[in-house]
Amino acid sequence: MRLVYDRRRLLTAAAGLGLAGGLADRAGAAPGLAEIEGYPFRLGVASGDPAPDGFVIWTRLAPRPLEENGGMSMYSLPHSVGWEVAEDDGFKRIVRSGQATAIADLAYSVHVEVEGLAPHRHYFYRFTAGGDVSPVGRVRTLPAAGASPNLVRLGVAGCQNWEDGLFTGFGHLARENDVDAVFHYGDYIYEGGSGRYSKALRTHVGDQTYSLSDYRRRYAQYKSDPLLQAAHASTAFISSFDDHEIDNNWAGDMDADGNPPEIFVFRKLAAMQAWYEHMPVRRAQFPGVNGAIMYRRFDFGGLVRMHALDTRSHRSDQPCNDLPTGNSCQPVYSEASTMLGSAQEAWLADGLSQTSKWNLIAQQVLVMPYDGREPGGAEPVRGPDNWNGQPAARQRLVKVIADRRLTNVVVSTGDAHLTYVGTVPLKDEAPDGAAAATEFLCSSMASGGNGGPLGLAQADVYRNNPNLRLLHNQRGYQLFDITPKLWRTQVRVIDRVDAPGGLVSTLKTYAVTPDRPELHEA
Ligand code: FE
Ligand code: CA
Repeated sequence: MRLVYDRRRLLTAAAGLGLAGGLADRAGAAPGLAEIEGYPFRLGVASGDPAPDGFVIWTRLAPRPLEENGGMSMYSLPHSVGWEVAEDDGFKRIVRSGQATAIADLAYSVHVEVEGLAPHRHYFYRFTAGGDVSPVGRVRTLPAAGASPNLVRLGVAGCQNWEDGLFTGFGHLARENDVDAVFHYGDYIYEGGSGRYSKALRTHVGDQTYSLSDYRRRYAQYKSDPLLQAAHASTAFISSFDDHEIDNNWAGDMDADGNPPEIFVFRKLAAMQAWYEHMPVRRAQFPGVNGAIMYRRFDFGGLVRMHALDTRSHRSDQPCNDLPTGNSCQPVYSEASTMLGSAQEAWLADGLSQTSKWNLIAQQVLVMPYDGREPGGAEPVRGPDNWNGQPAARQRLVKVIADRRLTNVVVSTGDAHLTYVGTVPLKDEAPDGAAAATEFLCSSMASGGNGGPLGLAQADVYRNNPNLRLLHNQRGYQLFDITPKLWRTQVRVIDRVDAPGGLVSTLKTYAVTPDRPELHEA
């Protein structure tokens, strides 16, 4: 045979994925080992997890995304994928390049951790396989450690149920100027079977996802969307996950169906492998039998320190069987209850710092106390799946902020499919009292459909929740313009997601100063 391919050597490399090195840049694979039938870059490209000297670039070879294995033959042979990083989009000034190896074991995905670049500047990247060239992506490195940038602009997005709405907002997000990075708060896919959420607009391929190939095909369907691809190509994503990457409202080692952990672990491992394969994340986030260490930190110079949290993997199970708690069940104030687990909680406390102008806690589920009682209801109604279900955990977080006298904490949240803007009070029982942080919960890109009136008496909602400034039901995303003296959040909404051509507008703009966690309408 013309090529000798050392399988054992590749497995050794795969086993070392958690270490430096790994699969990228391995010799031993050569182009043309197996023909790819069709254009292999139909899932686009992505970048993520920027550092001052680099970032991750991602693609996956999938010439026919919805077919089994994305249209790839699972020969157990690797494909060599070339990559280039340039200072210009014409690739005249290429500053880094190499060959990565895409293997069947990881769905022919490619993750390259590019290093050695200059801080806070834009780069362009692309891949090649066989004679084909991928679309071009654009990405910016982080400011240097200790640098004092005048402005960092972050996007926030997530909750993109394919069956509920078009990804129009991603197309608009892709065209926003100079977004340094997008925080994705999860629900990148939804696990339900075809027609589970909506039959009218567009439907999932396949039944509810359980196996690795189910999840791979679901990601491939979502990532085949040109507007989502455009958003990825426009800037780095800082990817997290919430519940629907695996199963609705899972918590720790428990699913929401009552299966024992030893059964749920199989599904979770398949889903986490597919998550890794499709997200532009580093090898540090490579999942194992105990899940993935997803929480991590990003310093945008000395301007903003972003703590990306995992509020799913290490938490206590929801109280009250996941039902909104009403008269019959209030969350029990138990010191043992947790949203982060002890290791992540200590890590967060350790990293919250006044040395950064701003602290951004980027996470998944509502932190602020919220009473969702119906008009005339006698008792508070709390959401068991968010921090309202684990009030002791929230109190510990607030205590860290208060003990450090931090006045610069902003929380970014997803999950609820509505916009919530408000403050996290120092005391749960005094929501109109002094605040520990401001919180901007971003609605959803698609989940929930067009939106509209809430069906709640707005006046009652604000009376029951004096810490809440906005509750709104439309799809969209948020933009954070962060400067040393002022944080501005734009709530960007899409007028419709049930037909192409939806328009974007700014519903509200809020301003916060770093000396006081207080919201000002700008
Ligand atoms: Fe969601
Ligand atoms: Ca969710």
